[in-house]
Formats: sequence, structure tokens, C-alpha cells
Amino acid sequence: MKQIEIREIIMRDLEMIFSRKGFVTREDLSDYKIDGQPFKLVDQSRGIWNPQFLDSTLSIISDPNSHYRDNHRDDGLIEYAYQKGNIEGVNAKMRVAMANADPIILLTKIAPGIFVPTMPVYVVGDDMNKKRFLVAVDESLAVLAQNIGSVSPFQRKYAQALVKRRLHQPEFRGRVLRAYGTKCAVCSLAHGELLDAAHIFPDAHPDGHPVITNGLALCKIHHSAYDKNFLGISPDYKVKISERLLAEVDGPMLKHGLQEMNGRTIALPESKSELPSKIGLDFRFKQFEESA
Ligand SMILES: [Zn+2]
Repeated sequence: MKQIEIREIIMRDLEMIFSRKGFVTREDLSDYKIDGQPFKLVDQSRGIWNPQFLDSTLSIISDPNSHYRDNHRDDGLIEYAYQKGNIEGVNAKMRVAMANADPIILLTKIAPGIFVPTMPVYVVGDDMNKKRFLVAVDESLAVLAQNIGSVSPFQRKYAQALVKRRLHQPEFRGRVLRAYGTKCAVCSLAHGELLDAAHIFPDAHPDGHPVITNGLALCKIHHSAYDKNFLGISPDYKVKISERLLAEVDGPMLKHGLQEMNGRTIALPESKSELPSKIGLDFRFKQFEESA
């Protein structure tokens, strides 16, 4: 099997696990197999993983809470620190990945042993003085990176929007789904493929930060119903269905999926520090009541 095919199979499988759960665990990465053969997708302790069977790096771990957080530049590129500050060693295979434009996997750590994968990403630069690689989280950013230094304001804006979509939104979703056990807070639906991380303070609001306390794990229908004020969630965590919807008569989705949710208490994260913000819920619940 060609090396590029191995990478494609790995990324396809990882994408499936990720979409099912909203994140991947260290076990998913360590116990992975291709054709029944063990094929680890991360190193036990290091951030850069170079499997023996591949000419270049397969995955890199980024820890946003680490004291040397990888710098996210406003041209969309990530500055990824060399392993242990050495020039060679495991870093050498990152250079091969750059020379070959090999697709690699960026694993953002969102909790101990829990990661959100972004793939494919590309190594597009190597700064031996600062001991950092430059990583592009998308093909088009890799192309933009060829003109580092002459990125226009328009391209910068485009790059930032892309990083948000490729990196920050999935990270938010992963954090929220993990906190809610990959279940809809309203109806308990447990299919990650059908779950979103809903913002409480909306994304565009100044307080609309992508943090767990501003999120709710909701299935697609309850997310849309929440955003359209068909469904409200009070600051004491009670579900309220709008009067006009309660008065309607229609099929089973309306009856079981929405009307019967009225009065339920939402499921909450176990950790107190991850509970949804009461201020945020209150803000949204007032909007819900006003639209009624
Ligand atoms: Zn639901």
C-alpha cells in the first residue's frame, strides 16, 4: 500500500470516529489498526509522531493550555514549536513532510486524553532561528503561505475565517459534546453525527465566546428550534416550547420531538465549572419570551 493511501485511510477512519463522538480519545489513537495490524496514531509522550512505516510525520499534538501554546498568527498559520528545541531528531521528519507536502493530522488537546483532529494540515515553513515550524490548517492557506509577508487585508480576513471554521468551531463542538457526554441536553439523542454545540450568547454577540459555559449540546432539530425561539431554556434549566407550537396539531415530530419536551429539565455536565451560564440562559430566555 502506498504511503499516501495509508494516510487517506487513517484520516477517513479518524473522521468517522470524530463525527460520531465530537472528539477522539487517546485510546482511539493508540489502539488504531489497519487491516488488523496495530498502527499507532500518536506518540506516547511527544507531540510529533513519526511512525516507522512512513517517511514523514503523521500527527502533531497542540495543547492550548500548555504554557508554550502554539502561536496562531493573523495570517492563519500556526507556529508549532520544535520538539524539545532541538533542530534535528524527531523534527527532521517534519521537514520531509514539508518537502513532500504530505497531509498530516493536527490534534488539539481539549481535555486530558481527549483531542479534536484537524486534517489534512500541511507543514509550510521552517524557522530554524526561532525553532518553529509553520503549519497551515487547509490547502488554500498552504497556497497563501507561499506569499508570506505580502498577505493582503482581504486574504488575512479570509484566513482568519477559515481558521475559525476548520479549527475553532470543531474545538468548541468537541469541548461541549464531551461535557454533555455526546447527548442532546433536551432529548438525550446520542448520535454525535446529529449533534451540534449551540451557542447561548450567539456567536456574533460580544459575550458569544466559544467556551463550554456558553454552549449546549443540542441535536439538529433542538438547536434550530432554540435559535428560532420555538424552544426556550430557562435559567433554571427548564425546557419551554412556544405557545403557538404547543397549539398546533401535526405529525409525530411535532408531538414527540417538540411538544412533549415542554417542562423537561435539560441534562447538564457533571462538572460544576462546565454548567451553562445562567446569565446567558437568562438573556436567551428573555428573547424567547419576547418572541412568543
Ligand atoms: Zn434533541
